[in-house]
Amino acid sequence: MARVLSLFTPSGRPTLGNLLGALHPSAQRLGPDASRTDHVYGISDLHALTTPHDPALLNERSLELAGLAVAAGIDPARCVFFRQSAVPAHTELSYLLESTAYYGEMHRMIQFKEKSARQEAVRLSLLTYPALMAADILLYQATEVPVGADQSQHVELTRDLAERFNRQYGPVFALPRAVHPATAARVMDLAEPSRKMSKSVDSPGTIYLLDPVDVVRRKVMRAVTDSGSEVAYDPEGKPGVSNLLDILSACTDVPVETLSYASYGALKRDTADAVIGLLEPLQKRYDEIAADRAELEEVLRAGAEQARALAEPTLAAARKAIGLTA
Ligand code: ATP
Ligand code: MG
Repeated sequence: MARVLSLFTPSGRPTLGNLLGALHPSAQRLGPDASRTDHVYGISDLHALTTPHDPALLNERSLELAGLAVAAGIDPARCVFFRQSAVPAHTELSYLLESTAYYGEMHRMIQFKEKSARQEAVRLSLLTYPALMAADILLYQATEVPVGADQSQHVELTRDLAERFNRQYGPVFALPRAVHPATAARVMDLAEPSRKMSKSVDSPGTIYLLDPVDVVRRKVMRAVTDSGSEVAYDPEGKPGVSNLLDILSACTDVPVETLSYASYGALKRDTADAVIGLLEPLQKRYDEIAADRAELEEVLRAGAEQARALAEPTLAAARKAIGLTA
């Protein structure tokens, strides 16, 4: 049996990268007749504590992200949809996995290097984050993890930890693999196309899912393009133009190879239209969902109950295997 899992972190306002790289691919996996427990999706609020955060805003951000996930097609009636912090098994298994992982392999993670370089006081949880992410995945015996390309290293580490744990203590965990969308697995920042678009980095090149449409259009029209004027797909040599082609392709389902443009201006106009075509209905659905906050809270509460029931047998097996009896 394949079980699909993906969690989304409320570390800022969700971006177009989050939508194309993770939310849409996760929603597409649901299909019309998905069995509820084959798909586990949620809000990883504990991961938002790995970088400086505002306690007064965390719950708002979690609900906003949950509402946007549902608006993007993650239908809670067809999956287990919950808040990570409501299921204590995540932090408990995380400790067992910290005791399976090595300092060196955590320290080598690209995300740790990049994020720690941007900060003065680096939280210890930023270093140990991959152990908690591994716990998120392994607790549910998930086999497929739809994520953006930036998360593939963490999923590989999760697989290594699962293999090591199973070898040392006995077969407890299924081995997961990352699955990436065919296009837009790594949406780049429009103002700085050498860097991925990130919700936790303040940049004029980030498109937020709740940006007003005129702001979206302006951001796309001001996207940094490359020297020369030829529109060609070449992510190494022409990262700005290639990023726009990727975004346009992902928003319209037209393969990049068949997109042909005579000028940067025309490409930008069509890309802006395509992004707005995707975001406008999403924002409308989001407004409806956000209007009933109590309902969203209730959906997450019911989801956490289901998640706890799925997670507890795995945690019990892991505790027993590692030698804890109480
Ligand atoms: P942060 O800067 O706080 O890490 P983020 O924008 O990277 O935020 P995450 O919550 O870390 O977002 O990731 C949520 C999901 O979105 C993950 O599956 C991740 O791989 C995917 N994702 C993030 N950024 C991009 C991007 N630029 N392109 C494609 N997918 C992305
Ligand atoms: Mg990230």
